[in-house]
Amino acid sequence: MTDTPRIRTRFAPSPTGLLHIGGARTALFNFLFARHHGGEFLLRIEDTDRARSTAEATQVILDGLAWLGLTADAPPVYQTSREARHREVALQLLEQGNSYRCFATKEELDQMRAEAIAAGRPPRYDGRWRDRDASEAPEGTPFAIRLRAPREGATEVDDLVQGTVRVANAELDDMIILRSDGTPTYLHAVVVDDHDMGITHVIRGDDHLTNTFRQIQIYHAMGWETPRFAHIPLIHGADGAKLSKRHGAVSVLEFEREGFLPEALCNYLLRLGWGHGDAEILSRDEAISLFDLDGVGRAASRMDYAKLTHLNGVWLRQADDARLAEDVIRRLSENRDLTLDDTAKARIQLLMPALKERAKTLVELAQSAAFLARPLPLPFEPKAEAQLTEEAREMLAALAEKLANTEFTAAGVDAALRAFAEESGKKLGQVAQPLRAALTGSTTSPPIDATLAALGRTEALARIAAVSHS
Ligand code: GLU
Repeated sequence: MTDTPRIRTRFAPSPTGLLHIGGARTALFNFLFARHHGGEFLLRIEDTDRARSTAEATQVILDGLAWLGLTADAPPVYQTSREARHREVALQLLEQGNSYRCFATKEELDQMRAEAIAAGRPPRYDGRWRDRDASEAPEGTPFAIRLRAPREGATEVDDLVQGTVRVANAELDDMIILRSDGTPTYLHAVVVDDHDMGITHVIRGDDHLTNTFRQIQIYHAMGWETPRFAHIPLIHGADGAKLSKRHGAVSVLEFEREGFLPEALCNYLLRLGWGHGDAEILSRDEAISLFDLDGVGRAASRMDYAKLTHLNGVWLRQADDARLAEDVIRRLSENRDLTLDDTAKARIQLLMPALKERAKTLVELAQSAAFLARPLPLPFEPKAEAQLTEEAREMLAALAEKLANTEFTAAGVDAALRAFAEESGKKLGQVAQPLRAALTGSTTSPPIDATLAALGRTEALARIAAVSHS
């Protein structure tokens, strides 16, 4: 019986800023790959850069992942908590002769660098302590530990997205794995953690590809099995430049604020750089059953905000009404001009099936629902004001009498409006448009019957009275 290890992936963000959607997509691919193969998805917070890592940034990452529904299968591993282990491995390499103490001073290294640049060579460590004995260093000189990297041959990665990529070992110098202050370098810490966490597949942005060769050298020096690597292309803006703030929202929580649904954002990020035939709208379950790395393309993807907004509209129409109402109420509760009492909340819930048909984001949805919570007198948009001519106001006064005795369901008010239009020799639109203006302060709303029914008789009549008596 062969013992194939269970697939295990990880997302390893550095908590130095926001959760960028590029990172979110990396997390999504790791999550989907693990789920597709019945494996595990882990999270590691790479907080070794203590000066730049913050607890707030960690929280933003955790919140963003929770919002996207990409929760890990185990509590997060904090990289700083593992420093003793990183040191232990560096010392083990030293004992094995795979690493050595380097006593070069900062001045020496600066000079080495300057000379290389002046001679047009890439700045690389020249290996001056590689074969020297530590006893040659003056007593008490601080030292770093460097990997004794192979000088002959090549290091190769058989990447699941990029194919086979190779670099001549002569191009790579002996990197530091443990600094003179005893702290591990980032490249070393990642390898030790991935190994100890049993990571079988490292799926990350292709900006890390060059790190991979150095990391593979550490695996080889330790005699550890290397995981499989998959370097996915970064997300670019529409102009082809690396995605940044000037293109639009980039942080996951910004998309949330702007009214995107997590399932729409995940769906969009999945389709960005991964394809399965023509499938555009994919639920989480469908994505899990279809996702694999062979569908990930090698070209950089371009962020298309219009397409994301379109997808969001599709997901919004499929979303549960109670959930949408709750979100809209939360957004509207920040607006002090509104009265969000239980009656207003009930109106929002009642009209949600009609409201969600016309909105593309939750922000738009909330704006379209605001009139339901607006106290009288309503503010009127100029176009709505124009509807409320003297004649229209008189008509609305007459209509109010009819509505006073109408059953306030969508069907009931629809029948009453049609009868009223017929009796007064008007087209339905001639009645509905001024009525919409009176009820909502604007010229757009869901169908007028549903709007009336959601407001309820008392409120609808109060809104009509407010314009017909003025
Ligand atoms: N901490 C790295 C980053 O945030 C990721 C490293 C990795 O995935 O190996 O870019």
